[in-house]
Amino acid sequence: MDKFDYDVIIIGSGPAGSSLARILNPNLKVLLVDKRALGNEPSKLIKNCGGLIAPDAQKALASFGLSIPKSVLVSPQMFSVETLDFDNNMVRSYQRHYINVDRERYDRWLVSLCDKNIKKSFGTRYIKSEKYENGLKVTLLKDGVKQTFSTRILVGADGANSRVKKEFMPVNNIKKYISIQEWFENTEDINQFVAMFDEEISDFYSWIIPKDDHIIFGSAVQEGRDATTYHNLQKKKLEKYGYKLDKPIKREGCYLLRPTSPKYINLGDGCVALIGEASGLISPTSAEGISYAMISGCMLGDAINEDISNFLNIYKNKAQKLKNNISSKMLKYPTMYNKNIRKMIFKLGVGSIEIRGRK
Ligand SMILES: Cc1cc2nc3c(=O)[nH]c(=O)nc-3n(C[C@H](O)[C@H](O)[C@H](O)COP(=O)(O)OP(=O)(O)OC[C@H]3O[C@@H](n4cnc5c(N)ncnc54)[C@H](O)[C@@H]3O)c2cc1C
Repeated sequence: MDKFDYDVIIIGSGPAGSSLARILNPNLKVLLVDKRALGNEPSKLIKNCGGLIAPDAQKALASFGLSIPKSVLVSPQMFSVETLDFDNNMVRSYQRHYINVDRERYDRWLVSLCDKNIKKSFGTRYIKSEKYENGLKVTLLKDGVKQTFSTRILVGADGANSRVKKEFMPVNNIKKYISIQEWFENTEDINQFVAMFDEEISDFYSWIIPKDDHIIFGSAVQEGRDATTYHNLQKKKLEKYGYKLDKPIKREGCYLLRPTSPKYINLGDGCVALIGEASGLISPTSAEGISYAMISGCMLGDAINEDISNFLNIYKNKAQKLKNNISSKMLKYPTMYNKNIRKMIFKLGVGSIEIRGRK
C-alpha cells in the first residue's frame, strides 16, 4: 500500500498551479486545490488582476504549444500605453504588445488543460500542514468540513499572500503593496492602456485598462499607507487629463509583491516548494507576474518528473534563470521610477511614439 494519499498537493490553481499540474507525469497522484470555484460553476472569489498577457507570457505560452482561445479574449486589443507623469506634468506614449484577456476565464482555460488524472478540489481552502513520515499531512476545508490528506510534496502556488509560505518559510522583508482595482462603465470610450507615475500616490504606479464595456482603474500603494485615500486621490488627479471616473460598480483589493532583490525570492525547503507569486517571482518594474507563474510552475513540474527524490535542488537550479531575469529588471528601475531621469527620457522622447488624431 502507498505511504501517501498523494505524490503532490498543489495549493492554488492560478497560472502557476495549473501550469505545474498540466505537465506533471500522469502516473503521479496529484491534488490541485483552490478556494475559488474554477470548474464550470461561477466563483464569488475573483483574482484581482489587470489581465494583460505580456510578451514574456506570450513566449511562455508559445513554448508550451498553447494558443489563447477567443472565448478568453476581451476588447480592445491595444498596441500602446499612454504614460502620464504627474511628477513632471508630462505625457508620452509607447508601443506595447499585450493581449487583453478576462483573467477569470484565462485561469479556467489553463485549469481545463490539466490531465483528467489530476484530482481537482475547488471551493476548498488550505488550512495547515503537519509532519508525516518524510512528507506532510495537509488539512483542507471544503463546505465547512475538514479533510486531511498525506502527501510527499506540498506546493504553495497560493499567490502574494501565501499561507504555505507563511507556515514554512522564514519571514522575509519583500516589499508589499496594497492594490485596489475599481471597475467603471466605459462611458468615455477609453480604448487604451494608461499608466500613471505619481510620487505623491506611490513609488510604484497606477493604471487604466479597458475591458469590453468597462474600464478598470487600479493602483498599488506601499503597505503601511492608507491605500484607499491615495487610490482616490489619484482618481481625482486624473480629471486633469480628461479621465472622469464616477460611480464604480465593483471594487477589489489584494496584496502585490515587489522583489527589490533576488534574495527575497524563496523557492522552497524540504518537501515544500513555492512557485509563482508565492515565491516572490514577479516583475519589480511592471508587476507582470503571469509569465513567472507559468514558467516557474513548469520548471517545478520538470524537476519533479526528472527526479522526485531530488526535485527541489533541480527546481532551484532551473529557476536561477528567473531570479537573474528579475535582477536584470532592476537595472531598468531608475529609468521608470526616478522622476528626474524619467523627465530627461520623456523630454528626449526616447522610444516613444507619436499618437495622431487623438481626441
Ligand atoms: C491588481 C493587479 C493587477 C495585475 N495585473 C497583471 C497583468 O495585467 N499581467 C500580469 O502578467 N500580471 C499581473 N499581475 C500579477 C499577477 O496577477 C500575479 O503575479 C499572478 O497571478 C501570479 O500567479 P500565481 O498563480 O502565482 O498566483 P495567483 O494568480 O494569485 O493564484 C493563487 C491562487 O491561489 C488560491 N489561494 C490562495 N490562498 C489559498 C488557500 N488558502 N487555499 C486555497 N487556495 C488559495 C487563489 O484563489 C488563487 O487562485 C497583477 C497583480 C495585481 C494585484
